[in-house]
Amino acid sequence: MKEIILCKYGEIALKGLNKSTFESMMMKSIRRRLKKFGDIRITKAQSTVYVEPMDESIDVDEVVDRLSKIFGIIKLCRCCVVEKTMESILNDSIEYITEDMLAARTFKVEAKRSDKLFPYKSPEICTELGAKLLNTFPHLTVDVHQPDVTVTVEVREHNAFIHAASINGAGGIPVGSSGKALLLLSGGIDSPVAGYMMAKRGAVIDAVHFEAPPYTSERAKLKVEKLAKIITDYCGDIRFHCVPFTEIQETLRDKCPEEYFTILMRRLMMEIAQRIAEKEGAQALVTGESLGQVASQTMYAMVCTDAACRIPVFRPCIGLDKTEIIEIARRIDTFETSILPYEDCCTVFTPKHPKTRPELGAVITAQSRFDWEDMINKAVENTSVKMIRLE
Ligand code: ATP
Ligand code: MG
Repeated sequence: MKEIILCKYGEIALKGLNKSTFESMMMKSIRRRLKKFGDIRITKAQSTVYVEPMDESIDVDEVVDRLSKIFGIIKLCRCCVVEKTMESILNDSIEYITEDMLAARTFKVEAKRSDKLFPYKSPEICTELGAKLLNTFPHLTVDVHQPDVTVTVEVREHNAFIHAASINGAGGIPVGSSGKALLLLSGGIDSPVAGYMMAKRGAVIDAVHFEAPPYTSERAKLKVEKLAKIITDYCGDIRFHCVPFTEIQETLRDKCPEEYFTILMRRLMMEIAQRIAEKEGAQALVTGESLGQVASQTMYAMVCTDAACRIPVFRPCIGLDKTEIIEIARRIDTFETSILPYEDCCTVFTPKHPKTRPELGAVITAQSRFDWEDMINKAVENTSVKMIRLE
C-alpha cells in the first residue's frame, strides 16, 4: 500500500514573522537527509511537511527513522494513501490501522478537508468512519477528550491520507538557525551528547579534537571520528579539526607545577579552540562538562578556564547527572562507541592531585613561565581538518 509521511512542526509553528526562514532551513535539512533514498517528493502546507516516496523500492521504515532525527519536527504521522472517495476511506484504510486499533481501548476520528469540493463534510467523514471502526473493533469505545488513539483523515487534492498512532520527532529547531559552534570532541560519553544538544537548538556543529600521539593511538582518533559520524545523523556534515597536542603536553609535564597541569592544559585547549572558531566563523565553543564531575569541572576551575576565552563557552550537560547523560548517549547511539577503551590526551598525563579550587592569579603566574603564544600558534598551524559527512 502506498504510504506518505506527514512531519509536524514543533516550535517553528510559533515563530511569527521569522517562520519562513526556519521552514526553509528545515526543508533544506530534510532534502539533504533524504537525498540518498532517491525519488521522494517533499512539499509543505499548513505547518506540515509531506514526504512522499515515489518509488516502491524505497524502504519507508528507513525514511521514517531518518526523519525522526531531524530537528524542527515534533511529530511524524505515517499514513496510507487511499482514493478520494468515502467508500475507499471506509474500506481501504482499516487494514493499515488495525494494529494501532487493537492496541487501543478508546479512539476518536478527526477529519480535515483541504479539498472543499469533496462531497462530504468533515463531521460526516468522522461519523461514518467512527461507526465503521466501532463495528470492526467491538472492544473500542469513542472518547473525544482523551482517546488512546486519534484516527486522522486528510482529504487532499488528489488522495486521502489516513493514519492512527504517531511517532515522536526529534523536536528542537532546525540546524543552521542558531549560528555555528565549535565542539570540543573527546572520545568520551559527554561531548557527543553536548554536540547533539546544541544542534537540537539549531547550531551548526564543527568539531575539534586534541590528540597526543604516540601516547594516544590512531585507533583512539578513529573512535572520535566515528562518534562525529554518528552524530551527523542529527547535526549534518561536521568539519573535524585535529590538533597535535603532544609537544604542548610534554612541555607542561616537564615545566608545570603538577597541581596546575590540568587547568593550564584546559586553558590551552580553549585558546586553540577559539582561534579555530574565529577562523571558521564559529561564534561559540561547546564542551561536555558537567558541574562537579571531576576536578577540572568545579566552578572554580571553570572560572579559570573561561578567563582564557573571548567567546562564550556553552556546556549543555552542565546540570545533568552522568546517568542522564548516558540515557541521551544511548538514545542517540553514541554510548557503545564512547565506552570503547581507548586513551584520551586528557588522561595521559593527568596528575594525581589536581587543584579543585584553583585561583586565577596563581594560574596566570604558573602560565607566565611558558611561551604561551608560541605554543598556541604552533598547534593551530599544525591542525588538520577533514569533513565528516552525513551519509
Ligand atoms: P567526555 O566524556 O566528553 O570525554 P569527560 O567527562 O571525560 O568528558 P574531561 O575529560 O574532563 O571530561 O573533558 C571535559 C570536556 O573537555 C569534554 O567533554 C570535551 O568537551 C573536552 N575534551 C576533553 N578531552 C578532549 C580532547 N582530547 N579533544 C577535544 N576535547 C576534549
Ligand atoms: Mg573525556
